[in-house]
Amino acid sequence: MARIVMKFGGTSVADLDRIRNVAARVKREVEHGNQVAVVVSAMSGVTNQLVKWCSELSPLHDAREYDAVVATGEQVTAGLLAICLQEQGVDARSWQGWQIPLRTDTAHGKARIQSIEGDELIRRMEINQVAVLAGFQGIAPDNRITTLGRGGSDTSAVALAAALKADRCDIYTDVDGVYTTDPRIVPKARKLAKISYEEMLELASVGAKVLQTRSVELAMNERVRVRVLSSFTDALPGEDTGTLVVDEDEIVEKETVSGIAYSRDEAKITVRRVPDRPGIAATIFGALAEQNANVDMIVQNISADGTTDMTFTVGKADLPRARTALAAIRNQINYAELLEDTDVAKISVVGVGMRSHAGVANTMFSALAEKAINIQVISTSEIKVSVLIAAEYTELAVRALHTAYGLDAV
Ligand code: ADP
Ligand code: ASP
Ligand code: MG
Repeated sequence: MARIVMKFGGTSVADLDRIRNVAARVKREVEHGNQVAVVVSAMSGVTNQLVKWCSELSPLHDAREYDAVVATGEQVTAGLLAICLQEQGVDARSWQGWQIPLRTDTAHGKARIQSIEGDELIRRMEINQVAVLAGFQGIAPDNRITTLGRGGSDTSAVALAAALKADRCDIYTDVDGVYTTDPRIVPKARKLAKISYEEMLELASVGAKVLQTRSVELAMNERVRVRVLSSFTDALPGEDTGTLVVDEDEIVEKETVSGIAYSRDEAKITVRRVPDRPGIAATIFGALAEQNANVDMIVQNISADGTTDMTFTVGKADLPRARTALAAIRNQINYAELLEDTDVAKISVVGVGMRSHAGVANTMFSALAEKAINIQVISTSEIKVSVLIAAEYTELAVRALHTAYGLDAV
């Protein structure tokens, strides 16, 4: 007997037939004698619609009300799955974030989990009741509903697995594991049997949305055994199904580059002709931080005439807030103009082997040059190189890099 957490993403619960399929999978685990908690996402497309409604009413909407709206998608799926399980003869009960409770901080829209009270869930699981939890949501100290950021149901699942001391956390999605890159845009992508926490963390943080970044961070810190697998294939989760996220030393053959990711979620902003003196960067990025606009890549030009251009990227969703922040400091730093470009994509190559191999960045730049793709901004970390390019070249760039690093399936 094992205690397991199963998480099903949006496409896996997209309609009633798929919810029935999920219920059948849960039932199978129960019949194997396992204690099961299930975390569900909103039905595919629902969260996008809810987000869109909030933005249409007000681009700078109140984050607490945004959470009140977008958390509803998961409530529907949790209830539907509980009904479906009962229909299939399985004892089940749905739980919303506040009912567990899953407590978070007050950072609405991207809240972090602070604690989960698992005792009642464990008591129910021990009498063979399946706990069906609405992912993505929690409750703040002031009793308002919070959400954990897009893709946050992954984090709900891993946090729950840690709180319940589960033996496994199975993340069911619409692909059968983690690939060397998004298999939807590179048909030659290869499935990885194992990936290290660190590489998965880096890939997630640069856009491989198969797992939310925070979920990988939690899994790494809490030693949760996470497996990514498909809800559309029939195989029972065994040792060789899907992709297991593991410690680096469990991986025998380390590739220099293990994966490539892309993100179209960023917007580029250039603040033109600011004075080149101490305190300017602090003023710009201080104002952005105050507005909660997350900055990612940054470049500053050298100054020829005492002024300089500052270029950086923020998440597309943060663009209206960034604009507000920069407008407010215009008098302070006297920039000439603001340029915005939302037609950009960030392409990143990730691999722990980069620590010991030279030339990784150069391979990237050469492969992009060969396709005549211009690089606008570059950033690097110990195990990652990222470039910003025009969005129209995203697929071309990812495919070219996949080939250049020898990752193509044969
Ligand atoms: P869910 O709704 O189940 O949470 P997501 O859409 O959030 O699913 O994540 C799964 C998707 O992640 C896949 O359909 C795939 O297109 C995308 N993806 C991006 N990078 C990768 C990768 N390296 N390996 C597998 N899938 C990836
Ligand atoms: N429904 C939420 C989203 O679309 C959370 C999730 O699916 O993980 O972002
Ligand atoms: Mg997801």
